[in-house]
Amino acid sequence: MAEQEWSNWSGSLRFVPGRVVAPDNEETLADIIRRAAADGHTVRVAGAGHSSVPLVETDGILVSLENFRGLELVDSSANVVAMQAGMTLKEAGESLLESGLALHNLGDVDMQTVVGAIGTGTHGTGRRLRDLSSALTGVRMVTARGDIIERTFERDSNFIRASRVSLGTLGIFTTLQLKLLPAYTLRRREWCTHVDDCMTHLDELVEENRNFDFYWYPRSDEVKLRVMDHPGKGTDELPFAKLTEDKTGWSAEVIPKTRILKFDEMEYALPAAAGPACFQEVRRRIKERHRRNVGWRVLYRTVAEDDTFLSNEYGRDTVTISLHQNAGLPFHDFFKDIEDIFRYHDGRPHWGKKHNLTAAELRPLYPMWDRFQEIRSHMDRDGTFLNPYLRELLGVEPGD
Ligand SMILES: Cc1cc2nc3c(=O)[nH]c(=O)nc-3n(C[C@H](O)[C@H](O)[C@H](O)COP(=O)(O)OP(=O)(O)OC[C@H]3O[C@@H](n4cnc5c(N)ncnc54)[C@H](O)[C@@H]3O)c2cc1C
Repeated sequence: MAEQEWSNWSGSLRFVPGRVVAPDNEETLADIIRRAAADGHTVRVAGAGHSSVPLVETDGILVSLENFRGLELVDSSANVVAMQAGMTLKEAGESLLESGLALHNLGDVDMQTVVGAIGTGTHGTGRRLRDLSSALTGVRMVTARGDIIERTFERDSNFIRASRVSLGTLGIFTTLQLKLLPAYTLRRREWCTHVDDCMTHLDELVEENRNFDFYWYPRSDEVKLRVMDHPGKGTDELPFAKLTEDKTGWSAEVIPKTRILKFDEMEYALPAAAGPACFQEVRRRIKERHRRNVGWRVLYRTVAEDDTFLSNEYGRDTVTISLHQNAGLPFHDFFKDIEDIFRYHDGRPHWGKKHNLTAAELRPLYPMWDRFQEIRSHMDRDGTFLNPYLRELLGVEPGD
């Protein structure tokens, strides 16, 4: 049994699936789903296991799309590709670059699958840049009934607005159609300074730069400012800060970093205007109550609004604030205490990170919640793609 145990990246989630399958093609996958549904088993699909809530836990069938890799179609004139769904962001970045294309943004790392990152609304930073799911313009999937279907934004925009952030509950995506940018380079610079200087200049740093974020280190009250721009653009000098890194390269090589130190994380998305005040409250609370136990840092980013039904940025420009705690250290009381501050500021929790909300609290935060639920229940009437965590999260009773 032990060799079948599945664990997420940080090791904070573990379970033993009934069966793990890695089909080679859609027909085999469709057959697996049909049989599982007939036998009353749950089917969950995992990407790279970088989420830290039990989205993929199942005692039924756990699907891996590790055999679905590669670009199927490249339309360089329209900047559109069709990509098999099992590719990681790193593999995708390398293949796209060979075709002269790139995603509009990336998050902190590129170890996740493209489909997994899209499924939870993974984002990078940049006040004019949407989350990664906004690149999805079409999808091919195997449904809970075992049908293989295709949908595009052009023909069914609401379906794609539901699919972009859907936590693997509408179907198992096998091919993603993505709208991209021509490959581009970025200059990445990092500076260190005191948090007060950062907050004094926050608005201009956010406004002037394509990608800007900062890490705050509670023990020293210092911050690391991270700025990325097309070469020759963006903030020129920062006299109040010390430059610690300066490099230029292709976006897919410059935006993500390698993370060796493992951590658990809570992240909330707030209305952009609430970001600075919320951060200062978080800072005060950590210094007052948690500094002794908090091992690591707090990350502040910006993301542009969109109209994806379950997006954290639905209808509002956003600031995200995330708490990082080294893996293995207690995080529950710390995260719970700060979560109250995030909630006071109308925050929406990242779907792939730790939080304590369920359907009753989530529904009022998402204007298109009910529309999403209609589409979900139409696609999966028997709840084949729902585990107990997702039932509670989405408010679906067994038999609903
Ligand atoms: C080190 C680290 C850095 C991170 N950095 C960021 C960051 O910068 N910004 C940010 O927003 N988040 C970040 N995250 C969170 C992470 O991007 C999300 O949790 C993401 O969903 C993980 O992708 P994954 O490939 O590991 O998918 P998983 O966690 O395995 O799955 C995520 C969801 O996708 C669904 N899914 C997977 N495959 C399919 C499929 N074929 N069809 C349909 N649904 C599918 C799953 O069912 C699940 O619901 C980070 C996490 C870690 C551990």
